[in-house]
Amino acid sequence: MTKKILYLFSDTGGGHRSAATAIIRAVEHVYKNEIEQERIDVFAACSGFLNIFAKLYAPVIKYTPKLWGQLYYWLDDQKKLEMLEKVSGPFILNELVKLIQEKKPDVIVSVHPMVNHLTVEAIRQSGLKIPFIIVITDPVTLHRAWITPAVDMAIVATDAAKQLAVQYGMPEEKIKIFGMPIDPKFFLETSGKQKARKKGRLNPELFTILLMGGGEGAGKMDEIIENLNKLELKIQVIVIAGRNKSLEAKLKKDMPKFKFPMKVFGFTDKVHEIMAESDIIITKAGPGTIAEAMAMNLPIIITSWLPGQEEGNVEYVVRENVGKVSQDPVKVVEIINELLSDKKAFEEMKANIRRASRPQAALDIAGQILSYL
Ligand code: UDP
Repeated sequence: MTKKILYLFSDTGGGHRSAATAIIRAVEHVYKNEIEQERIDVFAACSGFLNIFAKLYAPVIKYTPKLWGQLYYWLDDQKKLEMLEKVSGPFILNELVKLIQEKKPDVIVSVHPMVNHLTVEAIRQSGLKIPFIIVITDPVTLHRAWITPAVDMAIVATDAAKQLAVQYGMPEEKIKIFGMPIDPKFFLETSGKQKARKKGRLNPELFTILLMGGGEGAGKMDEIIENLNKLELKIQVIVIAGRNKSLEAKLKKDMPKFKFPMKVFGFTDKVHEIMAESDIIITKAGPGTIAEAMAMNLPIIITSWLPGQEEGNVEYVVRENVGKVSQDPVKVVEIINELLSDKKAFEEMKANIRRASRPQAALDIAGQILSYL
Protein backbone atom coordinates (compact mmCIF):
# COMPACT_ATOMS: atom_id res chain seq x y z
CA MET A 1 0.00 0.00 0.00
CA THR A 2 1.20 3.57 -0.73
CA LYS A 3 2.76 5.16 2.35
CA LYS A 4 1.42 8.51 3.50
CA ILE A 5 3.11 11.48 5.21
CA LEU A 6 0.94 14.20 6.76
CA TYR A 7 2.44 17.67 7.30
CA LEU A 8 0.93 20.06 9.83
CA PHE A 9 1.48 23.79 9.34
CA SER A 10 -0.31 27.12 9.61
CA ASP A 11 -0.28 29.95 7.11
CA THR A 12 1.18 32.50 9.50
CA GLY A 13 3.76 34.31 7.35
CA GLY A 14 5.28 32.25 4.56
CA GLY A 15 7.95 30.34 6.43
CA HIS A 16 5.95 27.39 7.79
CA ARG A 17 4.30 26.65 4.45
CA SER A 18 7.68 26.98 2.68
CA ALA A 19 9.34 24.59 5.16
CA ALA A 20 6.63 21.95 4.64
CA THR A 21 6.78 22.39 0.87
CA ALA A 22 10.58 22.11 0.93
CA ILE A 23 10.44 18.73 2.68
CA ILE A 24 7.64 17.51 0.39
CA ARG A 25 9.73 18.40 -2.69
CA ALA A 26 12.79 16.72 -1.18
CA VAL A 27 10.81 13.51 -0.53
CA GLU A 28 9.48 13.69 -4.12
CA HIS A 29 13.05 14.15 -5.33
CA VAL A 30 14.18 10.98 -3.59
CA TYR A 31 11.07 8.84 -4.06
CA LYS A 32 9.45 10.37 -7.16
CA ASN A 33 5.71 9.94 -6.70
CA GLU A 34 5.64 6.71 -4.75
CA ILE A 35 4.70 8.35 -1.47
CA GLU A 36 1.47 10.21 -0.78
CA GLN A 37 2.09 13.54 0.94
CA GLU A 38 -0.48 15.98 2.24
CA ARG A 39 -0.14 19.39 3.86
CA ILE A 40 -2.79 20.44 6.36
CA ASP A 41 -3.28 24.00 7.62
CA VAL A 42 -4.25 22.78 11.07
CA PHE A 43 -6.19 25.76 12.33
CA ALA A 44 -8.03 26.27 9.04
CA ALA A 45 -8.93 22.57 8.87
CA CYS A 46 -9.73 21.90 12.52
CA SER A 47 -10.91 25.08 14.19
CA GLY A 48 -12.61 28.06 12.57
CA PHE A 49 -12.34 29.83 15.92
CA LEU A 50 -8.55 29.41 16.39
CA ASN A 51 -8.05 30.22 12.71
CA ILE A 52 -9.25 33.76 13.48
CA PHE A 53 -6.11 34.18 15.64
CA ALA A 54 -3.85 32.61 12.99
CA LYS A 55 -5.27 35.11 10.48
CA LEU A 56 -4.37 37.99 12.81
CA TYR A 57 -0.64 37.22 12.39
CA ALA A 58 -0.25 39.19 9.16
CA PRO A 59 -1.89 42.46 10.30
CA VAL A 60 -0.27 42.24 13.75
CA ILE A 61 3.29 41.84 12.43
CA LYS A 62 2.63 44.54 9.84
CA TYR A 63 1.06 47.23 12.00
CA THR A 64 2.09 46.42 15.59
CA PRO A 65 5.22 44.23 15.60
CA LYS A 66 5.92 45.42 19.17
CA LEU A 67 2.69 43.80 20.32
CA TRP A 68 3.82 40.58 18.66
CA GLY A 69 7.11 40.79 20.59
CA GLN A 70 5.27 41.32 23.89
CA LEU A 71 3.02 38.35 23.22
CA TYR A 72 6.01 36.23 22.19
CA TYR A 73 7.89 36.89 25.45
CA TRP A 74 4.76 36.68 27.59
CA LEU A 75 3.99 33.24 26.20
CA ASP A 76 7.60 31.99 26.44
CA ASP A 77 6.75 30.31 29.71
CA GLN A 78 5.85 26.70 30.34
CA LYS A 79 2.93 27.40 32.70
CA LYS A 80 1.28 29.90 30.37
CA LEU A 81 1.71 27.54 27.43
CA GLU A 82 0.02 24.74 29.39
CA MET A 83 -2.81 27.12 30.21
CA LEU A 84 -3.17 28.13 26.55
CA GLU A 85 -3.25 24.49 25.56
CA LYS A 86 -6.02 23.76 28.07
CA VAL A 87 -8.05 26.69 26.76
CA SER A 88 -7.52 25.93 23.06
CA GLY A 89 -7.72 22.13 23.32
CA PRO A 90 -11.54 21.88 23.28
CA PHE A 91 -11.68 23.95 20.06
CA ILE A 92 -9.39 21.67 18.11
CA LEU A 93 -8.63 18.30 19.69
CA ASN A 94 -11.69 16.34 18.54
CA GLU A 95 -11.30 17.54 14.97
CA LEU A 96 -7.60 16.69 15.01
CA VAL A 97 -8.33 13.16 16.26
CA LYS A 98 -10.96 12.72 13.51
CA LEU A 99 -8.52 14.02 10.90
CA ILE A 100 -5.81 11.58 11.98
CA GLN A 101 -8.25 8.66 12.02
CA GLU A 102 -9.54 9.57 8.58
CA LYS A 103 -6.13 10.16 6.93
CA LYS A 104 -4.30 7.34 8.76
CA PRO A 105 -0.83 8.67 7.86
CA ASP A 106 2.30 6.55 8.40
CA VAL A 107 4.22 9.56 9.74
CA ILE A 108 3.14 13.02 10.91
CA VAL A 109 5.53 15.95 10.51
CA SER A 110 4.84 19.33 12.11
CA VAL A 111 6.56 22.57 11.13
CA HIS A 112 4.52 24.75 13.50
CA PRO A 113 5.14 25.36 17.22
CA MET A 114 1.54 25.75 18.39
CA VAL A 115 0.06 22.36 17.56
CA ASN A 116 2.57 19.80 18.78
CA HIS A 117 1.35 18.95 22.30
CA LEU A 118 -2.18 18.69 20.93
CA THR A 119 -1.00 16.44 18.12
CA VAL A 120 0.74 14.10 20.58
CA GLU A 121 -2.56 13.89 22.48
CA ALA A 122 -4.62 13.51 19.29
CA ILE A 123 -2.43 10.62 18.08
CA ARG A 124 -2.87 8.94 21.49
CA GLN A 125 -6.66 9.39 21.37
CA SER A 126 -6.82 8.14 17.78
CA GLY A 127 -5.65 4.73 18.97
CA LEU A 128 -3.16 4.60 16.08
CA LYS A 129 0.60 4.23 16.38
CA ILE A 130 2.05 7.02 14.26
CA PRO A 131 5.59 8.40 14.55
CA PHE A 132 5.54 12.17 15.08
CA ILE A 133 8.45 14.39 13.98
CA ILE A 134 8.74 18.13 14.48
CA VAL A 135 10.92 20.36 12.33
CA ILE A 136 11.77 23.51 14.30
CA THR A 137 11.78 26.43 11.87
CA ASP A 138 13.37 28.96 14.23
CA PRO A 139 17.00 28.41 13.31
CA VAL A 140 18.88 29.95 16.22
CA THR A 141 16.77 31.02 19.19
CA LEU A 142 13.50 29.21 19.69
CA HIS A 143 10.27 29.65 21.58
CA ARG A 144 9.39 27.25 24.40
CA ALA A 145 6.17 26.41 22.54
CA TRP A 146 8.26 24.13 20.31
CA ILE A 147 9.33 21.99 23.25
CA THR A 148 7.44 18.70 23.11
CA PRO A 149 9.43 15.92 24.81
CA ALA A 150 6.91 13.25 23.73
CA VAL A 151 7.62 13.55 19.98
CA ASP A 152 9.72 10.86 18.29
CA MET A 153 12.22 13.29 16.82
CA ALA A 154 12.91 17.04 16.75
CA ILE A 155 14.93 18.42 13.86
CA VAL A 156 16.74 21.73 14.35
CA ALA A 157 18.81 23.95 12.08
CA THR A 158 21.85 24.79 14.19
CA ASP A 159 23.84 23.63 17.20
CA ALA A 160 22.69 26.78 19.07
CA ALA A 161 19.05 25.75 18.55
CA LYS A 162 19.82 22.24 19.82
CA GLN A 163 21.48 23.54 22.98
CA LEU A 164 18.51 25.78 23.72
CA ALA A 165 16.02 22.98 23.06
CA VAL A 166 17.89 20.72 25.51
CA GLN A 167 18.03 23.53 28.07
CA TYR A 168 14.23 23.96 27.72
CA GLY A 169 13.61 20.24 28.31
CA MET A 170 13.86 18.35 25.00
CA PRO A 171 15.59 14.98 25.43
CA GLU A 172 18.98 15.39 23.71
CA GLU A 173 18.87 11.97 22.01
CA LYS A 174 15.69 12.98 20.13
CA ILE A 175 17.30 16.03 18.50
CA LYS A 176 19.04 16.02 15.12
CA ILE A 177 20.73 19.00 13.44
CA PHE A 178 20.22 19.29 9.68
CA GLY A 179 19.84 23.01 8.82
CA MET A 180 16.75 24.90 7.65
CA PRO A 181 14.68 23.01 5.07
CA ILE A 182 14.59 24.98 1.85
CA ASP A 183 13.08 23.88 -1.43
CA PRO A 184 15.58 21.78 -3.44
CA LYS A 185 14.82 24.04 -6.43
CA PHE A 186 17.11 26.62 -4.75
CA PHE A 187 20.09 24.45 -5.62
CA LEU A 188 18.79 22.12 -8.34
CA GLU A 189 17.09 24.46 -10.80
CA THR A 190 19.12 27.65 -10.81
CA SER A 191 21.68 28.84 -13.34
CA GLY A 192 24.58 31.35 -13.26
CA LYS A 193 23.84 35.02 -12.59
CA GLN A 194 24.42 36.43 -16.06
CA LYS A 195 22.38 33.67 -17.69
CA ALA A 196 19.60 34.06 -15.10
CA ARG A 197 19.48 37.84 -15.70
CA LYS A 198 19.27 37.42 -19.43
CA LYS A 199 16.44 34.95 -18.96
CA GLY A 200 14.68 37.39 -16.59
CA ARG A 201 15.13 40.22 -19.14
CA LEU A 202 17.48 42.15 -16.87
CA ASN A 203 20.78 43.81 -17.70
CA PRO A 204 23.34 41.01 -17.18
CA GLU A 205 26.10 43.47 -16.21
CA LEU A 206 24.35 45.57 -13.54
CA PHE A 207 24.71 44.95 -9.79
CA THR A 208 21.30 43.62 -8.81
CA ILE A 209 19.64 44.38 -5.48
CA LEU A 210 16.71 42.29 -4.29
CA LEU A 211 14.31 43.66 -1.69
CA MET A 212 11.83 41.40 0.04
CA GLY A 213 10.00 41.18 3.36
CA GLY A 214 8.85 37.60 3.96
CA GLY A 215 5.50 36.31 2.73
CA GLU A 216 3.70 39.46 3.93
CA GLY A 217 6.05 42.00 2.31
CA ALA A 218 7.06 43.60 5.64
CA GLY A 219 9.66 46.36 6.15
CA LYS A 220 10.35 49.83 4.82
CA MET A 221 11.09 48.78 1.24
CA ASP A 222 9.65 51.95 -0.33
CA GLU A 223 11.80 54.22 1.87
CA ILE A 224 14.94 52.24 1.05
CA ILE A 225 14.22 52.55 -2.66
CA GLU A 226 13.62 56.31 -2.30
CA ASN A 227 17.06 56.58 -0.67
CA LEU A 228 18.75 54.43 -3.30
CA ASN A 229 17.33 56.87 -5.83
CA LYS A 230 19.19 59.79 -4.19
CA LEU A 231 22.58 58.34 -5.23
CA GLU A 232 24.05 57.75 -8.66
CA LEU A 233 24.48 53.98 -8.43
CA LYS A 234 25.02 51.53 -11.27
CA ILE A 235 22.35 49.15 -10.07
CA GLN A 236 19.06 47.51 -10.91
CA VAL A 237 16.43 46.66 -8.33
CA ILE A 238 14.00 43.79 -7.93
CA VAL A 239 11.22 43.91 -5.34
CA ILE A 240 9.18 40.98 -4.07
CA ALA A 241 6.26 42.59 -2.27
CA GLY A 242 4.70 39.24 -1.32
CA ARG A 243 1.08 39.59 -0.17
CA ASN A 244 1.55 43.32 0.50
CA LYS A 245 -0.74 44.52 -2.31
CA SER A 246 -0.57 48.22 -1.38
CA LEU A 247 3.25 48.20 -1.52
CA GLU A 248 3.17 46.40 -4.86
CA ALA A 249 0.71 48.95 -6.32
CA LYS A 250 2.63 51.94 -4.92
CA LEU A 251 5.98 50.79 -6.28
CA LYS A 252 4.53 49.91 -9.67
CA LYS A 253 3.02 53.41 -9.86
CA ASP A 254 6.26 55.12 -8.72
CA MET A 255 8.53 53.04 -10.96
CA PRO A 256 9.03 55.67 -13.75
CA LYS A 257 10.55 58.18 -11.30
CA PHE A 258 13.46 55.92 -10.29
CA LYS A 259 16.90 56.31 -11.93
CA PHE A 260 17.55 52.59 -12.08
CA PRO A 261 15.75 49.77 -13.85
CA MET A 262 13.31 48.10 -11.51
CA LYS A 263 11.01 45.08 -11.44
CA VAL A 264 8.20 44.58 -8.93
CA PHE A 265 6.57 41.25 -8.12
CA GLY A 266 3.66 40.41 -5.86
CA PHE A 267 3.59 36.97 -4.24
CA THR A 268 5.66 34.78 -6.53
CA ASP A 269 6.74 31.16 -6.74
CA LYS A 270 9.90 32.25 -8.55
CA VAL A 271 11.90 33.40 -5.52
CA HIS A 272 14.69 30.96 -6.44
CA GLU A 273 14.98 32.38 -9.98
CA ILE A 274 14.89 35.96 -8.72
CA MET A 275 17.58 35.23 -6.12
CA ALA A 276 19.70 33.66 -8.87
CA GLU A 277 19.49 36.99 -10.74
CA SER A 278 20.50 39.03 -7.68
CA ASP A 279 23.82 39.98 -6.06
CA ILE A 280 22.56 41.00 -2.62
CA ILE A 281 19.31 40.88 -0.64
CA ILE A 282 17.73 43.49 1.62
CA THR A 283 15.17 41.74 3.82
CA LYS A 284 13.35 41.08 7.05
CA ALA A 285 15.10 38.46 9.21
CA GLY A 286 12.74 35.64 8.24
CA PRO A 287 14.40 32.26 8.70
CA GLY A 288 13.17 30.92 5.36
CA THR A 289 14.43 33.91 3.38
CA ILE A 290 17.81 33.92 5.17
CA ALA A 291 18.38 30.21 4.50
CA GLU A 292 17.32 30.59 0.86
CA ALA A 293 19.51 33.66 0.32
CA MET A 294 22.46 31.80 1.83
CA ALA A 295 21.85 28.81 -0.43
CA MET A 296 22.04 31.26 -3.35
CA ASN A 297 25.21 32.88 -1.95
CA LEU A 298 23.60 36.32 -1.45
CA PRO A 299 24.97 38.63 1.27
CA ILE A 300 22.06 39.73 3.44
CA ILE A 301 21.16 43.18 4.72
CA ILE A 302 18.62 42.84 7.48
CA THR A 303 16.36 45.86 7.89
CA SER A 304 13.58 44.54 10.09
CA TRP A 305 12.75 41.61 12.30
CA LEU A 306 10.00 40.39 14.56
CA PRO A 307 10.83 41.18 18.18
CA GLY A 308 11.71 37.99 20.03
CA GLN A 309 11.02 35.49 17.27
CA GLU A 310 13.59 36.73 14.74
CA GLU A 311 16.17 38.43 16.96
CA GLY A 312 18.36 35.32 17.02
CA ASN A 313 18.49 35.37 13.21
CA VAL A 314 19.78 38.95 13.27
CA GLU A 315 22.54 38.01 15.73
CA TYR A 316 23.38 35.03 13.53
CA VAL A 317 23.86 37.18 10.40
CA VAL A 318 26.20 39.50 12.29
CA ARG A 319 28.10 36.74 14.14
CA GLU A 320 28.76 34.72 10.98
CA ASN A 321 29.48 37.91 8.99
CA VAL A 322 27.17 36.87 6.19
CA GLY A 323 25.58 40.32 6.00
CA LYS A 324 24.87 43.60 7.79
CA VAL A 325 22.04 45.00 9.90
CA SER A 326 20.35 48.38 9.99
CA GLN A 327 16.77 49.49 10.49
CA ASP A 328 17.53 52.95 9.11
CA PRO A 329 16.79 53.23 5.35
CA VAL A 330 19.51 55.92 4.97
CA LYS A 331 22.12 53.68 6.62
CA VAL A 332 21.02 50.70 4.53
CA VAL A 333 21.83 52.63 1.38
CA GLU A 334 25.21 53.65 2.87
CA ILE A 335 25.96 49.97 3.50
CA ILE A 336 25.12 49.15 -0.13
CA ASN A 337 27.33 51.96 -1.33
CA GLU A 338 30.23 50.75 0.86
CA LEU A 339 29.89 47.17 -0.30
CA LEU A 340 29.82 48.30 -3.94
CA SER A 341 33.24 49.88 -3.48
CA ASP A 342 34.73 47.34 -1.05
CA LYS A 343 34.84 44.19 -3.17
CA LYS A 344 37.04 42.42 -0.59
CA ALA A 345 34.47 42.77 2.23
CA PHE A 346 31.74 41.62 -0.17
CA GLU A 347 33.68 38.52 -1.29
CA GLU A 348 34.52 37.70 2.34
CA MET A 349 30.81 37.61 3.16
CA LYS A 350 30.19 35.30 0.23
CA ALA A 351 32.95 32.97 1.44
CA ASN A 352 31.39 32.94 4.93
CA ILE A 353 28.02 32.10 3.42
CA ARG A 354 29.46 29.15 1.49
CA ARG A 355 30.95 27.86 4.75
CA ALA A 356 27.80 28.26 6.90
CA SER A 357 25.03 27.41 4.44
CA ARG A 358 23.36 23.97 4.30
CA PRO A 359 21.36 24.11 1.07
CA GLN A 360 20.67 20.36 1.06
CA ALA A 361 19.06 20.29 4.53
CA ALA A 362 15.62 19.35 3.14
CA LEU A 363 17.07 16.23 1.52
CA ASP A 364 18.70 15.19 4.80
CA ILE A 365 15.44 15.81 6.67
CA ALA A 366 13.52 13.83 4.05
CA GLY A 367 15.94 10.93 4.59
CA GLN A 368 15.19 10.92 8.33
CA ILE A 369 11.42 11.04 7.79
CA LEU A 370 11.60 8.23 5.25
CA SER A 371 13.50 6.08 7.74
CA TYR A 372 10.24 5.92 9.77
CA LEU A 373 8.26 4.35 6.92
N1 UDP B 1 7.96 33.71 -0.38
C1 UDP B 1 7.48 33.27 -1.61
N2 UDP B 1 6.97 34.20 -2.46
C2 UDP B 1 6.91 35.52 -2.16
C3 UDP B 1 7.39 35.95 -0.90
C4 UDP B 1 7.91 35.02 -0.03
O1 UDP B 1 7.54 32.08 -1.93
O2 UDP B 1 6.45 36.28 -2.99
C5 UDP B 1 8.54 32.70 0.52
C6 UDP B 1 10.03 32.87 0.72
O3 UDP B 1 10.75 32.30 -0.36
C7 UDP B 1 10.23 32.16 2.05
C8 UDP B 1 8.91 32.43 2.77
O4 UDP B 1 7.96 32.86 1.80
O5 UDP B 1 10.36 30.76 1.84
C9 UDP B 1 9.05 33.52 3.81
O6 UDP B 1 9.49 32.90 4.98
P1 UDP B 1 10.29 33.68 6.10
O7 UDP B 1 10.63 32.68 7.14
O8 UDP B 1 11.44 34.42 5.49
O9 UDP B 1 9.31 34.80 6.64
P2 UDP B 1 7.75 34.79 7.09
O10 UDP B 1 6.95 35.15 5.89
O11 UDP B 1 7.45 33.42 7.63
O12 UDP B 1 7.64 35.85 8.14
